[in-house]
Amino acid sequence: MRRYRIAAIAGDGIGQEVIPAGLDVLRAIADRQGFALDVEEFPWGSDYYRANGKMMPEDGLETLKPFDSIFFGAVGDAHLPDDITLWGLRLKICQGFDQYANIRPTRVLPGLTSPLRAVEPGDIDWVIVRENSEGEYAGHGGRAHRGHPEEVATETAIFTRAGVTRIMRTAFRIAQSRPRKLLTVVTKSNAQKHGMVFWDEIAAEVAREFPDVTWEKELVDAMAARMVRKPGSIDTVVATNLHADILSDLAGAVAGSLGVAPTANLEPDRRFPSMFEPIHGSAFDIAGKGVANPVATFWTAAMMLEHLGEPAAAASLMVAVEQVCASGIMTADVGGTANTAEVTAAVVAAIRGAN
Ligand code: ATP
Ligand code: MG
Repeated sequence: MRRYRIAAIAGDGIGQEVIPAGLDVLRAIADRQGFALDVEEFPWGSDYYRANGKMMPEDGLETLKPFDSIFFGAVGDAHLPDDITLWGLRLKICQGFDQYANIRPTRVLPGLTSPLRAVEPGDIDWVIVRENSEGEYAGHGGRAHRGHPEEVATETAIFTRAGVTRIMRTAFRIAQSRPRKLLTVVTKSNAQKHGMVFWDEIAAEVAREFPDVTWEKELVDAMAARMVRKPGSIDTVVATNLHADILSDLAGAVAGSLGVAPTANLEPDRRFPSMFEPIHGSAFDIAGKGVANPVATFWTAAMMLEHLGEPAAAASLMVAVEQVCASGIMTADVGGTANTAEVTAAVVAAIRGAN
């Protein structure tokens, strides 16, 4: 029997509610499709920090390394700074395992409404590929003449040939795997004449390896407008760390709710495990009430199955989620009255009932 080793880190806040829900759904789909999941749960996060003075053990990365994937909930605490929580756990894993591609699919699920008036069902079906290891967030720069009238601060974006080539290949591969085979390479090469021109050049080079993919260039400002005005003209998008950060929040907003948005932090070369997580954070306003929307986590689970090499399981999990959303069994954040357990039970039942 095919077996996969999954490290589950529920983390903080509603992570503690949505990850167990996601594991229930994963176990149901594994049963149905005839593979096994060996799940190990790690109690790392802010409570672990309060007890042990760190977010995860010193050898945490070594512990995670042999796993096939990491299924992650949320991290963030009202009483601890992000420097400790986010940097001590989530970013440590992202950086330690060189998860250089952040993948964010966006769709308007059945039963949800986009705030865009003109959107027809199916209009929005995007995948945004964000460069996750360098660029504008490389932390390069500094301050001179602090406090003086001539003070200067610089923030230098770093783009390397290796870094841009590998994200471009990942994006072309994803575009190639989708029906439209369309990739939009987003830059700001009219105004940023070094790094962004470099992106355009490498895009053209990598494009030669993918003759069946149609690709185009778009400036980031025009892209933001196009996402609102002509959402149906977009399929796969690749952009820098900063640009994709902004565009993917816009994408999340036009799709309806944070509670349904998934993401993957991929290490596409498979030297290390990749990490799959809902986009939302700990959401302390609703934590402990049993009302968190688990759909983002279910979609996250489907992305993980796809990465593990179980695309049929991923597809039928999404069919089950869409059936349940369409039937109106939804949490309050998307206009329903069901709680986390009820949505989870409905998705498990839909999986068990599927042919
Ligand atoms: P963080 O600081 O880690 O980003 P947060 O507490 O700011 O976490 P977010 O995840 O950013 O929370 O979400 C903002 C708000 O959106 C939450 O406070 C919550 O009301 C709502 N929300 C987010 N995720 C969900 C969900 N899965 N189900 C229902 N509501 C959600
Ligand atoms: Mg937040």
